[in-house]
Amino acid sequence: MPLNLFIIGPSGCGKSTQAKLIAGKYNLSHLSMGQLLRDEIAAGSGFGDEAKSYLDNGKLVPDDLIFDILIAKLNTLNNQNFIIDGFPRVLNQGKYMEFYLKKKDLPFSLLIHLSVTFEEITARRAKLGSEFQDENRTDNNPEAIASRQQFYDDGITPIREYFESKGLFVDIDGNRPIEPIFADICDKINKLKI
Ligand code: AMP
Repeated sequence: MPLNLFIIGPSGCGKSTQAKLIAGKYNLSHLSMGQLLRDEIAAGSGFGDEAKSYLDNGKLVPDDLIFDILIAKLNTLNNQNFIIDGFPRVLNQGKYMEFYLKKKDLPFSLLIHLSVTFEEITARRAKLGSEFQDENRTDNNPEAIASRQQFYDDGITPIREYFESKGLFVDIDGNRPIEPIFADICDKINKLKI
């Protein structure tokens, strides 16, 4: 059965952790938009060179570049079921993906929003310190973190309204340990008519 999922939330909400668990349980390919970008940068590709300053400053990479990188990757998956974390970050990206999947006669199954307060994320960062930080990331300074939060705050409402109206959006309370969050997400996925 086709199953194509998306998971989004503020920076530091734990979406990659959940995406990995979901991918394992439902046998999905896991794509992380942020990681795809970091891979391009590490490879020194033209895409990576273009994306680097946006990432380092906690700004959104322009949609055209995001689509080029993501679609190239999806094309290698051969219509395998997937979960993408960190996408869509703006409504335009969500609409683009809907269109892309529709053309391929594949479903946009569900957009999972991991809702975590800024206070909780700040507390996690303070508690975990360097453990929380991925050493391979160059965007963990306070300015970039604040910028990412601002872009998230600006993007989430239009995304929520659009996909909620289509019954494709679920809110999950992410201010909890990993296991109950995962259980709630599985519950939502299991209820999908697939
Ligand atoms: P993440 O690993 O999800 O925290 O993403 C790291 C950075 O990659 C973000 O701060 C953005 O600069 C960029 N990025 C990731 N996903 C997207 C996206 N869907 N649209 C635009 N920029 C993105």
